[in-house]
Amino acid sequence: MSTHEQWSPSSWKSKPIAQGVDYPDEPQLAKVLDKLATLPPLVTPSEIERLRHQLEKVQNNEAFLLHAGDCAESFEACTHENISSKVGLILSFSLIVVWGARLPVVRIGRIAGQYAKPRSSSTETINGKTVLSFRGDNVNGLDPNDRTPDPNRLLQAYFHSSTTLNYLRGLLSSGFASLHHPRDWSLNHVRSPSLRKEFERIVEGLSDALDFSRAIGVESHTPYEQGGAHGTLGEVDFYTSHEGLMLNFEESMTREFPLPPSLVTDQKKTAQYNTGAHFIWIGDRTRQIDGAHVEYFRGIRNPIGIKVGPSMAEDELIRLLNIVNPDKEKGRVTLITRYGAGKIENHLAGHIQTVKSSGHPVIWICDPMHGNTLTSSSGLKTRNFGTIISELTSCLRIHAECNSRLNGVSLEFTGELNEEGFSVTECLGGSMELSEEQLGLRYQSFCDPRLNFEQSLDVAFLMSDHFKK
Ligand code: PEP
Ligand code: MN
Repeated sequence: MSTHEQWSPSSWKSKPIAQGVDYPDEPQLAKVLDKLATLPPLVTPSEIERLRHQLEKVQNNEAFLLHAGDCAESFEACTHENISSKVGLILSFSLIVVWGARLPVVRIGRIAGQYAKPRSSSTETINGKTVLSFRGDNVNGLDPNDRTPDPNRLLQAYFHSSTTLNYLRGLLSSGFASLHHPRDWSLNHVRSPSLRKEFERIVEGLSDALDFSRAIGVESHTPYEQGGAHGTLGEVDFYTSHEGLMLNFEESMTREFPLPPSLVTDQKKTAQYNTGAHFIWIGDRTRQIDGAHVEYFRGIRNPIGIKVGPSMAEDELIRLLNIVNPDKEKGRVTLITRYGAGKIENHLAGHIQTVKSSGHPVIWICDPMHGNTLTSSSGLKTRNFGTIISELTSCLRIHAECNSRLNGVSLEFTGELNEEGFSVTECLGGSMELSEEQLGLRYQSFCDPRLNFEQSLDVAFLMSDHFKK
């Protein structure tokens, strides 16, 4: 494909669409998309530009990127408890990294729009009956009797995203993220004494540091751009993301806005922004060079992610980068590698070398989840904590061996609790030593298995120890 072909928010329609959805009610789909196109943006171009700027810092090894949240959000789980526990976990994780590695953390949640899911098969058999696969709450229902794609779900997705974002913005601007209150971030249910102690130690160290700063009068406002981990002490930057899978939805959220004055040239005064999220990514199943998803992604100004799995050929990766980032702009592309612990040795070094020789600036982050999914003996989809750590540590080592550096992680985790205040039991192992028999206790994911609060902090300490100065 030539990158000089005319791009428009709808030019993806002329390309083959992987994971497409067939709507029986097309007139209703058109109506919904028209409505979506008139609704206000969920995020603003200046926030998107701010993220791009911060991702440039990540690329320069001056910040760490944390991309995390649920595999899929659901409309039902859009509650204040779930949102605050997710944000609490993201803040706790980043605090551990900030403290150990002395690096600012750029936080991108899989939140406020992560509804659609790619599927390996378009149908499944439930209790002897073949039905369409569940494609995520913005397409059809989890209930096997509710699998017909319904366009109105796209509108519901917009409003659930908007309400999630509204609460998120409220939480962050009213002191929830204040470094003076890290104990509010759900730590009270961490049951492992050593993990608790370690986190408490950081919080105490931090309180001392804050007291000291206050005493000498330098507490307030260390802007991110000047190396501060936080925009202000009470407010942090927090960005939203989802897989850009449903292209008709993404198109309807795409708007033309003026470029920031510093980027305006005689030829280019405006850009197309996807205003549905700050960051969107292309999944491993939809990254075909000549496909619709790559076509859509090449034209938007947002920073983007690309999942890179074992089936990605080296020359294919470079062709892809040439298409989505022809001007080799920093902070534009994040490669999210997800090979699996047993396969990373065969692929990562080659990918790093080819990207290096192409001169493409990329951010490398490790997704140690998606190549390591297995089915437990009881039939539950799970992941082994040890295998996740194995991919992560191999990834750190291989980057070092290739004279490169891992810039962050992409995780599926949740701070969600059940009614009695216990964390979910979806991944095996970790410092809480979750066994196969315990998996069924509080398995709440309707999609991929997520690390729980304790297991996520285990990963945070690993990262923070690795980057400790
Ligand atoms: C995901 O991130 O939930 C996902 C489906 O990933 P991948 O495209 O890497 O399989
Ligand atoms: Mn997933």
